[in-house]
Amino acid sequence: MPATATNTPKTGKAGKKGPRPRHVPQRTCVVCRDKTNKRALFRIVRTSDGQAEVDLTGRKPGRGAYICDTPACWERATTTSMLDHALKTELTQETKNALRSFAATIFANRPAANEESKGETA
Ligand SMILES: [Zn+2]
Repeated sequence: MPATATNTPKTGKAGKKGPRPRHVPQRTCVVCRDKTNKRALFRIVRTSDGQAEVDLTGRKPGRGAYICDTPACWERATTTSMLDHALKTELTQETKNALRSFAATIFANRPAANEESKGETA
């Protein structure tokens, strides 16, 4: 028996350009596990020193995790070890504080989605 028969047919590797719908990558929030492509998710990337930073370009190299556009998720990500687990590292309190302040900035500069839930002070 010839052992050189490794010519397995591969499908989907052809570079054909068909009228396929545009591929929308789905991301999962590491906190609420909500898989979405509608809501914006922020990419957190692990840095070379084992910490993390927000990757606004989405193109930084390194292990990434996504947190959705929800203040509650950022709250949990920075107060629990969920993000640590997702990035397989141990984030310092300093890093989490930095992420918190980033979240505070993005949500502060944003008009409230629903005005009715206003008046809730942290
Ligand atoms: Zn979430």
